[in-house]
Amino acid sequence: MKSRIRNSPEALTYDDVLLQPQYSEIRTRKDINIGSNLGRGIELSLPILSSPMDTITGGHMAAATANLGAAGILHRYNTIEEQVLEVMRTYEISADNNLILGAAIGVSGDYVERATALISAGVDFLCVDVAHGHHILMKEALQHLRNLTNDIHIMAGNVATLEGVNDLSDWGANSVRCNIGGGSICSTRVQTGHGLPGLQTIFECSKTDRDVAIIADGGIRNSGDIVKALAAGADAIMCGSLLAGTIETPGRVFEGPNGAKYKSYRGMASKEAQVNWRGKYSSYEGVSTQVPFRGSVKNILEDIERGVRSGFSYSGASSLKELQHKAKFVRQTTAGQGESRAHISTRKWW
Ligand code: IMP
Repeated sequence: MKSRIRNSPEALTYDDVLLQPQYSEIRTRKDINIGSNLGRGIELSLPILSSPMDTITGGHMAAATANLGAAGILHRYNTIEEQVLEVMRTYEISADNNLILGAAIGVSGDYVERATALISAGVDFLCVDVAHGHHILMKEALQHLRNLTNDIHIMAGNVATLEGVNDLSDWGANSVRCNIGGGSICSTRVQTGHGLPGLQTIFECSKTDRDVAIIADGGIRNSGDIVKALAAGADAIMCGSLLAGTIETPGRVFEGPNGAKYKSYRGMASKEAQVNWRGKYSSYEGVSTQVPFRGSVKNILEDIERGVRSGFSYSGASSLKELQHKAKFVRQTTAGQGESRAHISTRKWW
């Protein structure tokens, strides 16, 4: 037998499922605690992390997310001095003394020096940020970082499997970004044929018996997807596109031919990002695009938070633990997906 397809498990993603509404005794959504503890000092009252991308998280985004109980991760596509300056800027912009701030590093080059400088500057956690995190370079980097310090929370990724989560945890990570190829600006699956649908990744990764937080990263389009990811076992979600186009993202606002305003949003492995930061490109696994300018991220995150609270309420859950315990997923068909969206505009009236 020549077939090498040995293991092709079911691979569901967000639109394939719904959560079954359940009896609820929650009288007001204010009584719901949607907060999450990621371990080693990182507790979020809104379990959302902004991606370490150069069109998503600089000081303004990090301050704005932290002010709402979420957290930002400053991107690493700059010099160590510039990133440290961005850490200081975040503390200057934010009025909140208890803000939680993360910063990204890589696994090669100046990463140890960068980590040391960021820790001295006062970041609350580091994010070891590479596309394929289940890798020997990640192992060496985590072991090296853990030899330097055992005190700081280290987030690492990305991985798509339970083995990946367990290994990164054993190598020293406190939280792991899960999902390969699911991001809105990502072309990894087309380019390489590898990945696993986003929600299935969370079902698999959250089976871990390690003391590690699961971050559902990429492909999350709305508060409904956030509720599904958390119910499937994620401790927090990470997003780029949900926050793209807002005032707080780095980069300028520009006008399109129709007079409408836009901002750039691009994958960090896109040709454009690579040429910008390295002066050349190799294999590119992301795209660069323009998204409509959407005003302040505060309004967007507040809308999202209301949706997430409502989601917990439909499952009769007053906390994340309760949501994960009670959640009942059902499959939906393609017809079901159509019914699940507002569909008045597709109705034939004559
Ligand atoms: P989004 O929230 O769906 O827009 O996805 C954002 C996530 O995509 C990030 O947090 C990263 O995990 C991932 N990502 C960022 N840049 C790239 C890229 O160039 N290729 C593939 N994935 C990327």
